Amino acid sequence: MKQNKSTLQEKIARLRASFVSQLPKRLEEAQQHLQLLKADPCMNRVAAVELHRTFHSLKGTGYSFGFNELAGIAGEAESYTQQLLDLPDDKTPPDWPDKIIGLLQELASQAQILIYTDLQHDHPLQTPFFEMESSAQEDTSLPEKPSRLIYICDDEEDQVTHLSYQLRCFGYQVEYFTQLQAFEAAVRQHQPDAVVMDVRFPSGGTAGTEALASLQKIIGEQLPTVVLSGRDDFEARLSAVRAGCHAYFTKPAKPLELATALDEVMEEEVFEPYRILIVDDEPEVAQYHTLILEEAGMLVYQLSQPGNVLAALQEFRPDLVLVDVYMPDCTGQELAAVIRQLPEHLSLPIVYLSSETDRQKQFSAMQVGVEGFITKPVIPEELVAAVALRAERMRSLRSLMVRDSLTGLYNHTTTTELIESALAQARRQQESLCMVMLDLDHFKQVNDTYGHVSGDQVLLALARILRHRLRSNDVVGRYGGEEFAILLKDVTPEKAVELVNQLREDFSRIRFGSGDKEFYCTFSAGISSFPAYNRAEELRIAADQALYKAKSQGRNQVKLDDGNE
Ligand code: GH3
Ligand code: MG
Ligand code: MG
Repeated sequence: MKQNKSTLQEKIARLRASFVSQLPKRLEEAQQHLQLLKADPCMNRVAAVELHRTFHSLKGTGYSFGFNELAGIAGEAESYTQQLLDLPDDKTPPDWPDKIIGLLQELASQAQILIYTDLQHDHPLQTPFFEMESSAQEDTSLPEKPSRLIYICDDEEDQVTHLSYQLRCFGYQVEYFTQLQAFEAAVRQHQPDAVVMDVRFPSGGTAGTEALASLQKIIGEQLPTVVLSGRDDFEARLSAVRAGCHAYFTKPAKPLELATALDEVMEEEVFEPYRILIVDDEPEVAQYHTLILEEAGMLVYQLSQPGNVLAALQEFRPDLVLVDVYMPDCTGQELAAVIRQLPEHLSLPIVYLSSETDRQKQFSAMQVGVEGFITKPVIPEELVAAVALRAERMRSLRSLMVRDSLTGLYNHTTTTELIESALAQARRQQESLCMVMLDLDHFKQVNDTYGHVSGDQVLLALARILRHRLRSNDVVGRYGGEEFAILLKDVTPEKAVELVNQLREDFSRIRFGSGDKEFYCTFSAGISSFPAYNRAEELRIAADQALYKAKSQGRNQVKLDDGNE
């Protein structure tokens, strides 16, 4: 069930209400543990530990929700119980039961006050709103990626038309203007995602950048802009800086460089939210932290049973795990140690969230190799900052492990793994899948004629086209040197052929340059599909055979595997 859209404040209010409504039951349990403890002259340790845990958790959650009075008493009870646990049995003070009974009574009267106040506020106390709203996104298949709109403004018509054409090959939607007035009017009517701006216009040596600067002042917004100019002097460059432009290129334009710069200036939109796994036995606390992190744009998955952590790591692939220290079935420390046993999770950041303020205990808990300790009650901004910092580091590290360093696409190992899991998912959901093996034509010749650096540019351009033109849930990997593997989800083989053919034609029109020499490149591709083939290895072999056929029949073409024809 999905929650209604409600504000963060409302959600937190419901969490607090739920915590308050459960107070009597918790205090009742504490009473029972106390009875057990009293009944056993040699101190029933299990009951003492349970009692300690209850007080500890009332303290932490109490503070988190701002019930400071209650939390303060719980804290006192927690340290008292801890003292009892630390003392040898014969040193136990005789009045210990009275002391605890007193504290429990204080807690009970605080609970009464809270229940009364909360009822006055008419909170829906008994409503089960806790549907474990996993915030993992629904796996709806994405529509075709919307292309980014670029405005080019340059007075030299033939340059502009050519550049527009090249940028369209990279998958942008491009409109161009040879006059500043027309450009200004267009921006006011419909803002582009980015701008390519010339500096010199007939009306002035820096008319382009100046016009851009005043336009931005009027609309009150900075347009992501890349300058492309015939001028390479200080004055021209300075005018670009003053107009807030993000990059400066001199003519003749190198389309790949421009495309890369354009991607960079538009980058924040492709940011993927951090994925955080919270393990806490107390749903209200977990939900409270979830709300804070979600509010900061993160994707959170809550787990109340530590026993399910391995499955959650596998399925959810978190960038960071937040672990409560005190949990009944297994402690946070034990849980962290279990995670660290798995080589693939050795570098996964684990952060404890606990109301433990004892430095010594914090230190010993950290020794299993966790990244940090955040004490409850958390300050929302601090929680967000601490989590974001570590999650970001994990992202960079992981990216080095799973991505190819030249193209930024998935490397061979990761591509193979992703294909396996996509195939498993397609089987479960009875969807079709296509696998594409793609290989550059006569690439050795490109290297031999224009040099390795130019060869690398070609690889980059192809990688860029693949990544930006395919949907984000398709798998795109660099399979070998100049060979790429692609997995297209939920498409028919015919549609896949059409799509790859479109990419092939666009790619073949990209002009590459090396010194004063120009050249073009092509690729060939072979396609196979599931369910025609059932296993990843069979799919790959079939796609490879189709690729071989495309090569032997003249290259620069896309072939479907025989099984599909
Ligand atoms: P075909 O059309 O039959 O595929 O011919 P080809 O020349 O593309 O194929 P071949 O397998 O003979 O050569 C592949 C070339 O790709 C050889 C190798 O130098 C080049 N290559 C592989 N990785 C890279 C790389 O990272 N950068 C560059 N510049 N070249 C690479
Ligand atoms: Mg706990
Ligand atoms: Mg090749």
